[in-house]
Amino acid sequence: MSEPYLRLTGVHRHYGKDETFVRVLEAADLSVAGGELVAIVAPSGAGKSTLLHLSGLLERPQSGEIEITGTATMALSERGRTLLRRTTVGYVYQFHHLLPEFTALENVTIPQLIAGKSQAAADRRSRELLDLLGVGPRAAHRPAELSGGEQQRVAIARAAANHPRVILADEPTGNLDPETSDLVFSALQTLIRGEGAAGLIATHNHDLARRADRIVTIKAGLVEPLTL
Ligand code: ADP
Ligand code: MG
Repeated sequence: MSEPYLRLTGVHRHYGKDETFVRVLEAADLSVAGGELVAIVAPSGAGKSTLLHLSGLLERPQSGEIEITGTATMALSERGRTLLRRTTVGYVYQFHHLLPEFTALENVTIPQLIAGKSQAAADRRSRELLDLLGVGPRAAHRPAELSGGEQQRVAIARAAANHPRVILADEPTGNLDPETSDLVFSALQTLIRGEGAAGLIATHNHDLARRADRIVTIKAGLVEPLTL
């Protein structure tokens, strides 16, 4: 099998000290391969967001190693981490965080222009993604004119715009009704498989989690397999 796109090895992460000390991850290991979708299901406060932040190089562990597309990140400078994050990681949050002044298409196009792509190539990629996620007909709408499920699918398209090899989603259906959650999860799944990216999704929804290739949880500082 090829190298996993995301690999955490012996990751320790705690916050605070003395009476504010919180141990979140003690010696966590996790690998996610290209095209694989892994769901994280764990109670609130267990460390799902922490695991995603660490995986997305948004924060650093106290020790351990995090490799993204085979690159070890612990020894990288802040600048090196930022560059790697920009080119290899796509992030989807519970709330969409789309830019309200711009259309759906523009929201997906902007990160590509920042990455140096031409307007024509960026527009092409954006339309392809919006079509894939079933929101092509909404390309010219601003976020306020979209439903919650549509907003979230545009946010997924934006996260995928620059062909990230790792797609991280933190309770992306947390604000949606069951039917819309299903649609958004399917969109994410289609995208991860279609793009061959490694997908890691935190969710409270057991029905959705069961559709992932694998489910993990966080227990006593470890990432462990879970059967629902
Ligand atoms: P989840 O996403 O599973 O709800 P989090 O990863 O957000 O859990 O948090 C895990 C634990 O770490 C919680 O106890 C939380 O209070 C604590 N925590 C998270 N971030 C910080 C921080 N920046 N400072 C102190 N404690 C934190
Ligand atoms: Mg969280």
